[in-house]
Amino acid sequence: MQEDVYLGLGSNLARPREQLRDAVHSIAAIDGVTLRAVSSHYGSAPIGYDDQPDFVNAVARVATTLSPSALLSALQAIEQAQGRQRSFRNAPRTLDLDIVLFGDLQQDDPLLTLPHPRCHERAFVLLPLQELAPDCEIPGHGPVAALIPRCADQRIVRLDAQ
Ligand code: AMP
Repeated sequence: MQEDVYLGLGSNLARPREQLRDAVHSIAAIDGVTLRAVSSHYGSAPIGYDDQPDFVNAVARVATTLSPSALLSALQAIEQAQGRQRSFRNAPRTLDLDIVLFGDLQQDDPLLTLPHPRCHERAFVLLPLQELAPDCEIPGHGPVAALIPRCADQRIVRLDAQ
């Protein structure tokens, strides 16, 4: 069975837009994953730790036959391969890959919380998600279109295609 999955991509180091493009290629190459669509890139202000460059973010829509944990492992291998160093929470990063939505699955496991625990309050997830799926609902939180206005204080800009 194929699940409809949305992935969050972010980078603010080492040519972030290239990091995202490379990551999309690597995601498309995962066994059991089919890439369906990729949003525009968005430039966003860092949250939680201000003294770092802006991020570039995007959302990818994939179909997968993998389990949620197998998909997370594959994404973490891509993060590692692209040189991610985990230094501290909210630190700058070459590549951050999150599972935003895995079908309508809801689970509370700290190793893999679904939907992603902060996706409903982050403009850098909600805007690209809305671009790909305007009628999308986040289980437990409601329609994306209703969540976006609550993020009005977060600085974000859609970047030109490249
Ligand atoms: P971060 O450093 O912010 O990318 O957090 C990574 C950690 O969050 C990993 O150890 C994951 O096990 C955990 N995690 C929990 N829920 C998710 C999710 N939906 N997507 C990605 N990582 C998650």
